[in-house]
Amino acid sequence: MISIEEALQHVQSQKINTTSEEKDLSSALGYHLAETITAPFDMPDFDNSSMDGYAVCGIYESYTIIGEVAAGNTATNKLEDGKAMRIFTGGKVPDNTTAVVMQEKTSVEKKTSVEKDVLTINGEITAGQNIRAKGGELHLGQEVFTTGHYINAASLGMLASLGKTSIKVFKKPIVRLITTGNELITPGMERKTGQIFESNSHAISGALLQQGYKCTEKQQIEDDFELIKSGIASYLKQTDVLLLSGGISVGDYDYVKAALEENGVEEIYYKVFQKPGKPLYFGRKDDTFVFALPGNPASSLSCFYIHVLPLLQRLSGGKRNGLPQVNLPLAHDYELKGDRPAFLKAHVYNNEVTILDGQMSSMIRSMAVGNALAFIPKPQKLDSGDTVQCLLIS
Ligand code: AMP
Ligand code: MG
Repeated sequence: MISIEEALQHVQSQKINTTSEEKDLSSALGYHLAETITAPFDMPDFDNSSMDGYAVCGIYESYTIIGEVAAGNTATNKLEDGKAMRIFTGGKVPDNTTAVVMQEKTSVEKKTSVEKDVLTINGEITAGQNIRAKGGELHLGQEVFTTGHYINAASLGMLASLGKTSIKVFKKPIVRLITTGNELITPGMERKTGQIFESNSHAISGALLQQGYKCTEKQQIEDDFELIKSGIASYLKQTDVLLLSGGISVGDYDYVKAALEENGVEEIYYKVFQKPGKPLYFGRKDDTFVFALPGNPASSLSCFYIHVLPLLQRLSGGKRNGLPQVNLPLAHDYELKGDRPAFLKAHVYNNEVTILDGQMSSMIRSMAVGNALAFIPKPQKLDSGDTVQCLLIS
């Protein structure tokens, strides 16, 4: 049996091959960049107004208004000393502009069609005010994002504003899932005594989706060595991460480990000193990684978040390593019994963490109403206010 740290280290030290693909911006959300992006021009590309107001030349109390620049247009006449031009947010500031004065700090005296309108300034003018300078955000050639950058919504906006239509991203891993167990039937089927509805595939598929991945294919197999062996054989092909649930413990019908061995999957570790999820298995065959998750619903989902997610993140070219973590004070006293470090179903709210009732590894409801796993590294008595490491699920 190995420690949690050793198990996580095994995932980090695996040699992996990442591949990249070109993606349209419209479908690049949630991927990681497989290239460095540099600015193809200054951002902004021209001095422009940050306000609706007047571009003025020189510092005076009043100016003659000689024209207008709307966003998308350029000035048609020349701005000279003592003159002003109406300008709108985003409009290209005319040459010779000293400052842009916001509309609210001006008044305009309307003249006849022959004479030009006169602008009066109410307040001080500072040279350069309300002008977004060319290159103020980025200079031509400047690094915008490096390889591995996570494409969030703002990244899409940034890339579009640089004129990009597609980017090179790392491919996401292909994940397949096998659930095992004679007692499992599909929700919707008629249930006989002793049978339960298969639920892990739903929880794991949901967790995959929530984290930006998907389950490409799944199948349910009974506790039959030959069937499990051939199921694994067919799913090892063209799969980056094969997940199995159930049948990995020490029961007489737990055939998963032997079936993996028969398929040439090499064990990297089996059994982690943690609660829940002790009988976790990790192995690989060529470039396909295999996690066999314990069947108990809360165990399999916890193991997914703690041990599988960091591998998926590595394979997709990201810099993230597991769920985001925060240290928070405990909202109440708590005693962790037993002998193993524990990931407890918890609820983080208002900057504190509550450990929920229903910690047995078979119980998924507490995980469903919670939003975090609280990590307690060794059995101990904790007081309200003690700091606890929390892994944030949502
Ligand atoms: P196992 O790891 O196969 O010994 O299963 C441990 C417990 O988890 C048993 O009570 C199983 O019935 C339950 N279990 C295993 N697989 C699933 C599944 N896919 N959905 C719901 N419960 C499961
Ligand atoms: Mg079983």
